Amino acid sequence: ADVTVGVIGLGSMGLGMAQTLAQKEFATLGFDLSQDRLKLAAESGVQPLSSLGEAFEKSGFLVFSLPTAKDVAKVVNDNLQILKDRGDRRLIIIDTSTSEPDVSRDLAAQLAALGHGFLDAPVSGGPAGAASGKLAMMIGGADGDLANAMPVIEAMTAKALHVGPSGAGNVAKLVNNLLAAAHMVTTSEGLKLALAAGIDPEAALRVVNAASGRSMISEVHFPTWVMSDRFDSGFSMGLMRKDVRLAKELADRTDALLPLSDVVAQLWAGSDWADTDDFTRMGSFKSLK
Ligand code: NAD
Repeated sequence: ADVTVGVIGLGSMGLGMAQTLAQKEFATLGFDLSQDRLKLAAESGVQPLSSLGEAFEKSGFLVFSLPTAKDVAKVVNDNLQILKDRGDRRLIIIDTSTSEPDVSRDLAAQLAALGHGFLDAPVSGGPAGAASGKLAMMIGGADGDLANAMPVIEAMTAKALHVGPSGAGNVAKLVNNLLAAAHMVTTSEGLKLALAAGIDPEAALRVVNAASGRSMISEVHFPTWVMSDRFDSGFSMGLMRKDVRLAKELADRTDALLPLSDVVAQLWAGSDWADTDDFTRMGSFKSLK
């Protein structure tokens, strides 16, 4: 089997994934629109490519780590001819971008018609998880494609869960990120209440983390990125805002009534702190003071 892996999108997540694959001795190719990212990849054993088409021609597996569903669809659609020309050389795309379930389903059907595979395989664990090969991955797609892609997936993950057919991985990811986005708001508000009522927020956070109000956000995100005033968690505000919007759109399309999530979605959509170029400052109880 061809275990050449091409990684498309070498940003905060994709670069770490490519480095991990190269370290684990996969022949790893990388492509990004940014020359800086290509250079960083080349410095850690990833072969940088000068065109996207080359990645589609030369890889047995492609790992996508792109910002949005629109980017994912464009990258595939711009390379349809190459996909047709591969003939019997089957390609499996492992799309780790947080994308849209409907787009994943459409692309999986389109790829299947051409004899190729497509898994929606969004991840959790941040840049550190990507760089250490310890991501959590939630996968939608066909059993056979998943079995074939397993060596590549195992190299990138500590836990990989097959949720269901195409699109299911992204549904699960949107559920997860809706919760994380809500925890950022509720944790901030809890600490704001502590402060208002005359309790040290650091002490309140220690209590929460020893008790039932805790979450990954209170246990890791707040101590590391918020209370330390560092904020740059490697996951940008704009990407989280995209995920909350997608969760809200999914709720609307499926007639799921989620009153608290509606408020969370409004907060993320309408706030001036949810700036696209900024990093996760929402977690700052200070910005809510
Ligand atoms: P990022 O913006 O750091 O990286 C995206 C990269 O894709 C950039 O380097 C950009 O140049 C490149 N790119 C865009 N269009 C391209 C194209 N057509 N061809 C090649 N390269 C292209 O984003 P990120 O933080 O790495 O996130 C990537 C995806 O993973 C997003 O969908 C995000 O929601 C998701 N995600 C991020 C995190 C995190 O902590 N950062 C965690 C889980 C999931």
